[in-house]
Amino acid sequence: MTVCVVIGGGPAGMMAAYSAALKGTKVILVEKNEKLGKKIYLTGKGRCNLTNDCDEREFLDNIFENRNFLYSAVNALSPRNLMALLEENGLKLKTERGFRVFPLSDKASDVTKTLSSMMAKAGVEIRLSTFVKRIICDRGEVRGVLTDKGEIKCDSVVLCAGGKSYPSTGSDGTGYFLAGEWGHTLVEPAPALTSFISKDKWLEGLAGLSLKNVKVTIPQKGKKAASQFGEMLFTHRGISGPIVLTLSCLQLDFPFQALIDLKPALDEETLDERIQRDFSELSNKEFKNSLGALMPMSLCPKMVALTGINPETKVHQITRSQRRELVKLIKNIPVNISGCGGFEEAIVTKGGINVKEVNPSTMESKLIKGLYFAGEVINAHGYTGGFNMHAAFCTGYLAGLNV
Ligand SMILES: Cc1cc2nc3c(=O)[nH]c(=O)nc-3n(C[C@H](O)[C@H](O)[C@H](O)COP(=O)(O)OP(=O)(O)OC[C@H]3O[C@@H](n4cnc5c(N)ncnc54)[C@H](O)[C@@H]3O)c2cc1C
Repeated sequence: MTVCVVIGGGPAGMMAAYSAALKGTKVILVEKNEKLGKKIYLTGKGRCNLTNDCDEREFLDNIFENRNFLYSAVNALSPRNLMALLEENGLKLKTERGFRVFPLSDKASDVTKTLSSMMAKAGVEIRLSTFVKRIICDRGEVRGVLTDKGEIKCDSVVLCAGGKSYPSTGSDGTGYFLAGEWGHTLVEPAPALTSFISKDKWLEGLAGLSLKNVKVTIPQKGKKAASQFGEMLFTHRGISGPIVLTLSCLQLDFPFQALIDLKPALDEETLDERIQRDFSELSNKEFKNSLGALMPMSLCPKMVALTGINPETKVHQITRSQRRELVKLIKNIPVNISGCGGFEEAIVTKGGINVKEVNPSTMESKLIKGLYFAGEVINAHGYTGGFNMHAAFCTGYLAGLNV
């Protein structure tokens, strides 16, 4: 019987171990933590958005890095196949806004429990609190792994050690080193799906304020500026929220200025007409009390200060050019971004094992026979919405089938 060692007990590793064991391979899953799926507990704010109820094409459309590389993997295990597999194994699911799929119980731990029981039924041996120090190869072929508890001989290894983000969960970048020893090259890992940092004074006191239906635009080196429409959030260090997380996946050149458009549905002329109407109703009020219908109250004093207009000015005294400046500001609020949140807060690590060195039909290394990859360790990543968990599941599944 052939033996396969799976390194890492996250979603990729557990799925790889399950699919390899189903084929009759003896599988040993090695995880350095004292329990499986430590990161899964944090996903979806403890609820685990485990996939997205979409078809294969939509899944690939939501992969921002190397989408074509995942074509065979998502065809081997589509979001709907995954949902059926988990439900057959007792995990009840529900689909929420944006087709995000969660366990019905709202408990991320139920995902890990289901995967653990699937592995147990398939006969996977699990070794917890065991750290893989090296992959052992001879003449271009995998022979075993060296752990802190001794050597395990095997015919194949699936490396599912994750990226570098949230290192406290165990994914601290050692996977890159294990593959690098055998010639695999890396696309420089960097934090992605993370917040933007700004030291702008005017942001003080806004932490926790969320803005819906706004547009954030950022410059891109040598390319057209990038924009996202939706929800953003002010934090104590800058800005975050779904649209900022998505923008953080781009190749960025810090520092830069982001522009917030509070009224993306209105062009400048229409917004100006709207403000003129508001101002004619409030003509004897002071400017500082005139913006409440246009934006959240906590933002009004900030906008008043940014216009440079005296807050005590009566609305009827505001000149046409001051009003036009206000319109421009509401559609282009500048935020100076100095950097982004680091690996300790990034949802994923972009970069990782170079996909050119991995066969996308099998997940096997093109350099070392018997070495396979799955999950976030590979340079293929998606946006929020369950796409990263699904990428881990489907690459794990495909690797397991091929060991
Ligand atoms: C806060 C947060 C929330 C998230 N929410 C979502 C979400 O809702 N939906 C979604 O799709 N994605 C989400 N993600 C991303 C998702 O969790 C990851 O993309 C996914 O877990 C990657 O799976 P993986 O199996 O490749 O790696 P990981 O889950 O990182 O697992 C890797 C495992 O390998 C082990 N390991 C590493 N090195 C060794 C070694 N040398 N020896 C032994 N074991 C080792 C680690 O301890 C770890 O358990 C979130 C991420 C974070 C941080």
